[in-house]
Amino acid sequence: MLTPISRADTIDRLVEPNLDLAVIGGGIAGARIAFEAARLGLRVALVDGGDFGSGTSSASSKLVHGGFRYLPMGDIGLVRESQHERRVLMERVAPNLVRPLPFLLPAYAGSPRGPAAVAAGLLMYRALSGRGGRVAWLRGRPIHDAVPGLRLDGLRMCGTFDEAETIDSRLVLATVKAAAKSGALVLNHAKVVGLELRHNRGGAVTIDAGRDGALELRARHVINAAGPWVDHVEEGWRAGVAMPLGGGRVALGIPWQGMLMLGTTDTPYSGDPAGVQVTEADVSSVLDEASGFLEAGMLRRDRVRFQTAGLRALPVVEGDTAAARRGHMIEVSRNGLVSVAGGKLTTHRVIACDALRRLPRSSVDGLALDERRLPGTGWSLEVEERTDLEPDVADHLERLYGDQAGQVLALAGAMADGLERIHPSGPDVWAQVAYAFRSEWARTVDDVARRRTTLAGRGLLTEEIVARIGAMARSESLVSAVT
Ligand SMILES: Cc1cc2nc3c(=O)[nH]c(=O)nc-3n(C[C@H](O)[C@H](O)[C@H](O)COP(=O)(O)OP(=O)(O)OC[C@H]3O[C@@H](n4cnc5c(N)ncnc54)[C@H](O)[C@@H]3O)c2cc1C
Repeated sequence: MLTPISRADTIDRLVEPNLDLAVIGGGIAGARIAFEAARLGLRVALVDGGDFGSGTSSASSKLVHGGFRYLPMGDIGLVRESQHERRVLMERVAPNLVRPLPFLLPAYAGSPRGPAAVAAGLLMYRALSGRGGRVAWLRGRPIHDAVPGLRLDGLRMCGTFDEAETIDSRLVLATVKAAAKSGALVLNHAKVVGLELRHNRGGAVTIDAGRDGALELRARHVINAAGPWVDHVEEGWRAGVAMPLGGGRVALGIPWQGMLMLGTTDTPYSGDPAGVQVTEADVSSVLDEASGFLEAGMLRRDRVRFQTAGLRALPVVEGDTAAARRGHMIEVSRNGLVSVAGGKLTTHRVIACDALRRLPRSSVDGLALDERRLPGTGWSLEVEERTDLEPDVADHLERLYGDQAGQVLALAGAMADGLERIHPSGPDVWAQVAYAFRSEWARTVDDVARRRTTLAGRGLLTEEIVARIGAMARSESLVSAVT
């Protein structure tokens, strides 16, 4: 899919009056809903007010996880479901984009969960994981082989278990590509500003598409998946760390793209989702909690190169948000609007199917969880055959573009600087930027830097790079908004 249908053509087709389903919100949930529905033969539109994946789905902890932290909450069903989904995503749906990552679970003297509780939790986790779940206990050197900076003083026991990590924004993008390939009309930077529904007979969705003006689309059904609306290079980490904090919370240390990601907080937030930001207090609390398992020298403020905040839609609970259920919620309003909230990246396929099952059965006959591999995942023969690529660039292209990496290489071949690194310290190359604009619906510098490449996440977005990507956006005749 080198050239998706153009934005202008998409808009022309969106306003044709025969849509079966309009999906509002192109995060992981909306993208998968659109894919599953299009696969069933429905005429589907997927619209996002910002970029695909620009909400919580690109601000996650980048884990496709079996739900270890939900065990103390007694949510066995969610753990079992998450474990199954992790395996299917890793092995079949998005291999290479979802990759195994072991985790260490240390128990320190004085920590809220002692060695016996941690061991019991691990054994139960393994029992729920079905095929392939591994747990083990580590001592001495293997601990530092896996996590070089782990504190050993006061360490009473260290368990290890299997999880997986992903590049969340690219998982969303791969799912949007799958939806488009199955016939869904997909449009980003198209905000829903009005919704008029007639009782169970669908209705009209009014969209502000920025410079492309306002449009109204009509659909028989509408699903609202609009959601709620770190770090330093660490070489040698082969595992993540999860340290229980009590109250259902864990402090995480996750090696991701050559950096160390720390988090998360559970700060309640009820303002406009667009306004959510990382506060000084958040940074202090993340660094403070990480000091429970990491050496102090690793946790200096000046080593933090990027921070991100996302919101999780949770049911209202008394007390701490950490104790709220992490399963998803689906509601159907009296006029037939299906709304989806909460859940996890890991379980997004289940969420999508549950949402679609709330439509009249005649519309979703034959719906079943699909395990087909997403486009832009898996492995690339073209990359493997190229001996002229630097190893980190080759790995990076295969990781981000999977079986579509050859398309990026073909584009690079037609550019003078296609394989030149965008920043000397990172593996992203200029052909990725052109590819993002031409074939991955990118429209702004932010779309490219945060969600198509790893530039922003690595803290490598200099003014010069912003200007050059902006110039490429203009030369691709697209709107460039430097945000
Ligand atoms: C800090 C944090 C860490 C997390 N870590 C993990 C993790 O490691 N693993 C995991 O499995 N889960 C994790 N989660 C949960 C997971 O990230 C979310 O459940 C998931 O991303 C939600 O996806 P979504 O599609 O429902 O919402 P979103 O990704 O927020 O998507 C909603 C979309 O709707 C669009 N939108 C909003 N309003 C409009 C409008 N008016 N018109 C059109 N579009 C609109 C937005 O632009 C957005 O793109 C984490 C959550 C948080 C908050």
